[in-house]
Amino acid sequence: MSDVTMIGLGPMGQAMTWALLSGGNTVTVWNRTASRADPLRTAGATLATSPAEAVQASPVIVLSLTDHAAGDAVLDQVPAPALRGKVLVNLSSDTPDRSRRSARRAAGVGAQFLTGGVMVPAPMIGRPGAFVYYSGSGQVFDDLAPLLEPIGEARYLGADPGLAQLFYQASLLVFLTSLSGLLNAAALISAAGAPTRDFLPDALQLLTGIPAMIGTGEELSTQLETAEHPGDLSNAVMMGATAEHIVRTAQSSGVDSELPEAVLSHYQRTIAAGLGGQNWTALYEILRRTPF
Ligand code: NDP
Repeated sequence: MSDVTMIGLGPMGQAMTWALLSGGNTVTVWNRTASRADPLRTAGATLATSPAEAVQASPVIVLSLTDHAAGDAVLDQVPAPALRGKVLVNLSSDTPDRSRRSARRAAGVGAQFLTGGVMVPAPMIGRPGAFVYYSGSGQVFDDLAPLLEPIGEARYLGADPGLAQLFYQASLLVFLTSLSGLLNAAALISAAGAPTRDFLPDALQLLTGIPAMIGTGEELSTQLETAEHPGDLSNAVMMGATAEHIVRTAQSSGVDSELPEAVLSHYQRTIAAGLGGQNWTALYEILRRTPF
């Protein structure tokens, strides 16, 4: 019997299998497209010929698929009794609700379940700085943490199986909006005929300078928790005026203004709520509610 089975050999599943093998584990793998397992077989992984064989091969089954629907499609091919007593670790991305549904499904067939969110790209798996959020049973996490450690530092968030993907989605919101902002800004520059290479190094410097500008996450958390947003240097009215200039610049340049308009809307609604004289962090009071 292998120590662990990896189901799904996209870039992430492959990288995690390499890490688990490097950690000295015996690994069985299965992938819908079997040829993706070839390099891993050469390195010592065993290829299962079906999902049922893959599940039978190990006590711990890691799923790394496009989403949880893909996980269902694979597990549908496994007779329910074969899942009893297994530990399923689903590291596929999906919504927190979908993660909770998968946890219920696992419980329904007598399997234990841990959900995870891998917080680094595939090439960083197993390297310093790699980490994975996990949630679900604390006992299951404690038992599995040593096995999973070669993938990246294991960070446990709590018993709710939705938490790991909630943290993943929240982090990706920061990441994706930053990337869109960067490209939207580059489009503004090039629309004026200026080379983006004159701009992008400074823009990236700005991104890495944000922690120095806004303080630690600890300080920001306290502000958000206490709903106190003293605005000395950068209040919402001042920042909102800048947001409006950006929208007008984008519109007059013929560049997409959807993202700047969304940002302007945050400031306008904060000001309309009477919080214009407070720090920009007062936007949190608007963003935490669904707009009417
Ligand atoms: P891919 O989308 O490239 O891999 C998808 C895997 O899912 C493949 O093994 C594919 O099989 C399989 N698959 C998809 N649909 C089905 C199905 N219906 N039945 C059976 N197998 C299916 O993703 P990655 O490997 O890049 O990522 C895996 C997960 O990890 C995703 O949820 C992703 O969001 C997450 N993640 C990825 C990161 C990355 O850097 N790549 C970073 C952080 C998280 P086949 O080979 O046959 O197509």
